[in-house]
Amino acid sequence: MEYARDDLPVLVVGAGPTGLTAALELSRLGIAVRIVDAALEPSTTSRALGVQARTLELLRPRGVGDELVALGNRASRTALHAAGHRLASIEFTGMPSQFDYILLLAQSETERVLAEQLGRQGVKVERGIRFTTLTERCDSVAVVLTARDGATETVDASYVIAADGSHSPIRKHLGLPFTGRSLPQQYVLGDVRLHGDLAEDQLSIFLATRGFLAVFPLGDKRFRLMATDPDGLTGDRDEPTLDDVQALFDRAVGRPVRLCELDWSSRFRINSRHLETLRHGRVFFGGDSAHVHSPAGGQGMNAGIQDMVNLSWKLAMVLRGTARPELLDTYESDRLPVIRQLVAMTERATRVFNSTNLLAHAVLTRVAPLVLASARVQGKAAPRLGQLSASYRRAPLASGGGRLGGLRAGDRVPDAELAGGGRLYDLLDTAAPTLLVSGPTPDEARRIANAVGPWADVVGVRTVDLPAAVAAPPGWLLVRPDGYLAAAGPSGDVRRLHGWLERWLTTPA
Ligand SMILES: Cc1cc2nc3c(=O)[nH]c(=O)nc-3n(C[C@H](O)[C@H](O)[C@H](O)COP(=O)(O)OP(=O)(O)OC[C@H]3O[C@@H](n4cnc5c(N)ncnc54)[C@H](O)[C@@H]3O)c2cc1C
Repeated sequence: MEYARDDLPVLVVGAGPTGLTAALELSRLGIAVRIVDAALEPSTTSRALGVQARTLELLRPRGVGDELVALGNRASRTALHAAGHRLASIEFTGMPSQFDYILLLAQSETERVLAEQLGRQGVKVERGIRFTTLTERCDSVAVVLTARDGATETVDASYVIAADGSHSPIRKHLGLPFTGRSLPQQYVLGDVRLHGDLAEDQLSIFLATRGFLAVFPLGDKRFRLMATDPDGLTGDRDEPTLDDVQALFDRAVGRPVRLCELDWSSRFRINSRHLETLRHGRVFFGGDSAHVHSPAGGQGMNAGIQDMVNLSWKLAMVLRGTARPELLDTYESDRLPVIRQLVAMTERATRVFNSTNLLAHAVLTRVAPLVLASARVQGKAAPRLGQLSASYRRAPLASGGGRLGGLRAGDRVPDAELAGGGRLYDLLDTAAPTLLVSGPTPDEARRIANAVGPWADVVGVRTVDLPAAVAAPPGWLLVRPDGYLAAAGPSGDVRRLHGWLERWLTTPA
């Protein structure tokens, strides 16, 4: 059986949003953690702008969501335009979340907020320290780190989190295949100030017959522009100029708008790839080291953050000896299907938007308004982009977990407002599953308490009037620290509850 060494730190390699989230979670849960990054300074570029509703739901109870919200700009919809007309939109305001928008914030700011919170928890990113090699031992992993002056150090870690980005030296060191493809289109990015009329409360996508341009409002008349350039209007400069970006804007938007103050520009191609396994022995992969894809829909950074929220509580419980080591395998079984779906969805969207075929363009501009007029499509599209509808229903951690009302084991439990104030996630223990019990008779309450008995020190029990948004009849919900449903049932049926706890948690001696 796997032996978890709680006397050794978890080593996080890479201090992008993925690594920072892992270190933040683990240190908050009392796990010794070191986080290293090869770069001497944090990145200052805007890169991933979209912080999705699900990410905010998870970061709020972890102490950073409110600050991100205060700093960012809210977009209430994505509007599609072509030939000077607005065709259709996907509205975020109907999303079943208090964060019914996409928050737009420079990635450098998101990273700063995460790193500052990490500092408040007593952990500092060790910079200028590069992962070099690792060797697995039976109960630990020895990692060689190299400082800028060439000095090496061997760290003994209980586990390693490879958050070392898309070129992941750890993935390469272990020789793991990064399955997928490189897409042919080239993209141009530019962060600019804009003089003219362009909405600041929505994402706007302008479809041209050859290529498209997407506009992300950052607030205060600043915008991120992202465009394809199938006709090579911008040459091949690594950092396109203001004139280059203006040319792409004029081609797709056709409005009298003047761009100025180009802060940052870049050119990139898209890789659409993922690992086939997120775990290699004592090494876990997350974020770009595990999956890269098109920026369509602003999903990438969010997926990395959610990877780490999924992994960290499991790792902490196993290291504390309260959960069985098999729980660690459920990181992959939960997240890999979500990642596969994400890579496929973003690749499809990229192909559609990038088509330079006139017929395809004509079909898209005619069909999009019809499709997006459907309430059913609206009801699905926005929560999907907000990463609210990802579910782990089919994963082993949900198997046999039952249901209550419309909620099935593996589903996201809504962070609903409670009648007495506060929100449902405020009731959750972020270190271990929480049992929410609603409306039991005294007899049922006793049976529930008996079922939890052996794990009473680990699993908190809260009696609650389930809010309407949860839409569940009286019963019990065993909710994971990351807000997904572990198991559920009516008050009279506690068999599943006992079964789940017995299967995944250790039984105290
Ligand atoms: C130009 C550009 C635009 C983008 N736009 C978007 C967007 O609009 N929407 C979106 O969702 N995503 C976007 N992305 C992608 C997004 O930035 C990534 O998904 C996100 O940064 C992934 O976070 P991460 O923490 O997994 O990896 P990274 O942010 O890449 O962090 C990896 C870290 O590992 C460190 N590292 C690497 N090698 C080593 C080593 N040997 N030892 C120690 N440390 C090491 C690096 O220094 C780095 O700090 C964009 C990316 C780029 C480059």
